Amino acid sequence: MAYQVECSQDDEFMIKSEDEHEVIEHVKEHAHEKHDMDLSDDDARDMVQEAS
Ligand SMILES: [Zn+2]
Repeated sequence: MAYQVECSQDDEFMIKSEDEHEVIEHVKEHAHEKHDMDLSDDDARDMVQEAS
């Protein structure tokens, strides 16, 4: 099983990995760099979807 996040903003960001922690870290980095948003781990985890 893999985990993925697609950015809800109007951009092309998408991360998919079998490591949920890696996905969360990339989402937090993307949100900070591109959207000037500081997400908590819980905020980022809420965005994670399970993918096959
Ligand atoms: Zn984005």
